[in-house]
This record gives sequence, C-alpha cells and structure tokens, in this order.
Amino acid sequence: MSERTLLMIPGPIELEPEVLRALARPQLGHMDPELTRAFGRVLGRAREVFLAPGGQPLVVAGSGTLAMELAVANVVDPGDRAVVVNTGYFSDRMAAILERLGAEVDQVAAPRLGEVPDLGAVEQALRRAETKILTVTHVDTSTGVRTPVAALAGLARAHGALMVVDGVCSVGGEELRQDAWGVDVVLTGSQKALGAPPGLALVMFGPRALAAWRGKKAKVPSLYLDLAEWLPIMEGYERGAPPYFATPAVNLILALDVSLGHLVAEEMEVRFARHARLAAAFRAAWRALGLGILPARDELAANTLSAVYYPEGVDATLVGKVRAQGVAIAGGLHPAAKAKYFRVGHMGAMRANDALAAIGAVERALAASGHRAEPGAGLAAAQAALAIP
Ligand code: PMP
Repeated sequence: MSERTLLMIPGPIELEPEVLRALARPQLGHMDPELTRAFGRVLGRAREVFLAPGGQPLVVAGSGTLAMELAVANVVDPGDRAVVVNTGYFSDRMAAILERLGAEVDQVAAPRLGEVPDLGAVEQALRRAETKILTVTHVDTSTGVRTPVAALAGLARAHGALMVVDGVCSVGGEELRQDAWGVDVVLTGSQKALGAPPGLALVMFGPRALAAWRGKKAKVPSLYLDLAEWLPIMEGYERGAPPYFATPAVNLILALDVSLGHLVAEEMEVRFARHARLAAAFRAAWRALGLGILPARDELAANTLSAVYYPEGVDATLVGKVRAQGVAIAGGLHPAAKAKYFRVGHMGAMRANDALAAIGAVERALAASGHRAEPGAGLAAAQAALAIP
C-alpha cells in the first residue's frame, strides 16, 4: 500500500515538510541551549496565536485531554459550581473531568444535534447559583458545530464566572481572540490547526484565571496537573534557564516551534480568512453533491472541519472507499448519529489543491456507492469558491 495517502481527518493533519524535519533531528537534551531557545519561542508564539499577549502559556507533553484537565484542575475546587455548554462528545468529556474534580456540574445542552445551546438558557443557568466556571467547546469535533465564544464570554464575565474554552479543534484555525473577548482559559492540542504532530497539550491562562489559581483552597489532585510545578518551568524556558520538573517532549517542541513560526509569519487574520474560504469551498461542494451537513445552519458550521450526512442509500463504508482513493477521512463520532455521517478535516497546512483532491475522492466514492450526482459537480462548486481573486 502506498504511503501517499492524503490525511484529511479532523486531526492529526498533514504536516509541512519543515515540521517533519524538526522531528528527525538528532536528539537534543531538554536543557540544551538550542531546545531552551526553541521552547522559549514556542511560549512567545503561543501568545501571538491565542491573541493573548497578557497570558501565561503552558506546554506539557500529553494530548488535548490533558490540556482539558490542566485548564480546569488548576482553577476549580471541590464543591465549586461549573456550567458546561454542551454541544457534543467533547463537552461530555469536560463535564466528566469536572465531576471527577468534585465540581457541581450543570449542563446546558443544545436543543438538537447540530444546534448550539440558546444564550438565554446559558444566562439562566448562570443566574441560578454562584458559578465558578463556564466551559464551552469552541468547535465540537464530533458535530462540526462552532459555538459563539465571544457572546458566551460576555455572559460569563457579567456573572463573575471564569470562561474556559476547549479550542482543540479551533485554535489556529477559527477566529478566537482570547484577550479581546475576555476568555480566561483557552486550551488546545498540538495536532490540529497548530500544524504539529500529536503529543503536546497547550493551555493559556489569562490574569483572572491565574488569580483564581492563587486563591484555590484545595491542592491540585495530581502532581502532573499542578500549575505550581509547571509555572517555574515555563518561566525558566522563557528566561533561558529552565529548571527540571518532568522531561519535555523535546522533538515535539522543536516541531511546534516551526509550525507556530509558520502561523505567526502568515498572521492570524490572514489564516482565519484562509480557513473560512476553504471551508466555504467545502460547503459549496457538499451542497452541489446534494449532501446535507450536521450543523443546522451555515453560520454554525466550523471552518476547521466538515461533518456531512451520508446521502440516501450510502453508509459508513464510504470512508473505506475514499481511503482506497488515497484520501483518509473520518467516520461519525457523536453517539446520537455516529453511523449517519462522515467528517473531513480542513485545517493547518491544507491548501486548495488538497481540498480538491479530497472532494474529488469523495465524489468518486459516492458514485461507486450508487449516489447520483453530476460528475465533477462538487469540484466545480469548490473551484468557483476558490477562484483566484
Ligand atoms: N476537545 C476537542 C474539541 C477535540 O476535538 C479533541 C480531540 N479530537 C479533544 C478535546 C481531545 O484531544 P485528544 O484526543 O488530543 O486528547
């Protein structure tokens, strides 16, 4: 089987060759001056990517789930009330993490699959009792739905709650302005729109979150999650003289340094616009092929991935057929509709050419599955949306 498969799942993603080369470097030690400089740059670049010049970044070896735990374990005490805006699989996970930390979790769910929870219902939940944190999944990777983070952050602030955003499927791809929108904690993983391999958890704590951490009554229940252990390490790497706590994932840091360098060089505004344009081209293609998407309305559809219903007569075997055409896409994930849809990631290093390759492969696989559509209809719609201005 050829290794030339185009990876178009919603993370991990295709990597830039420069990022891959960073992984293949001869091993550096974790105190090596070159690694120290790269780690320091990663932290500074993270502030630029999160649009959080006043934030304290944390970069720790582990996946996005570790980032979720780091984000809340350092601000929540047992008995604190947490309101979870629930849009799917990863909001359920955040609720489970909070419950393990002893928080009293109140969830506000979307009225149906593909919708976002009503802001009025969130406000009511915040009014019901004093709330320590409001959490939201910016883009739920299980549904492709994007929640209105700026509006929710405004509500959190008005009710004295900290706003925590799971940006695993959004940071680096969706517009997210941590400082300007008043978001207190944003977390992500390295493997999606940041364009690095899986394996690093990133968390950005804003000033109010750091104050909440300082005011915490109970000890953080796990040593590896404790900001008190990590803060001197992050400060040390930025100063150029890191102490030791736990060995960092050296080569992943080198790779992330390169990929964040690409993001910063492109500039966030340009990147947001590029992702929006590519996502619009995908949506145009799905429409032209007669396929429906999970998000209830286009304005709720994420720019980082598409979640698309199989048409009548087509089932999950489509994913394997697309794979046989040289493009890896993902099946459904949300338990309520898992077998009814597929997902295509479009973030990071992806270009217009990759979009066309993926759409072309889906078209051929649909045709082989008996779905009737004008050959090339999806490609033509995408090409029109991607026309060079
Ligand atoms: N949150 C969201 C929104 C995600 O998409 C994911 C991963 N798909 C996670 C959290 C968990 O990240 P990981 O799989 O890296 O632990």
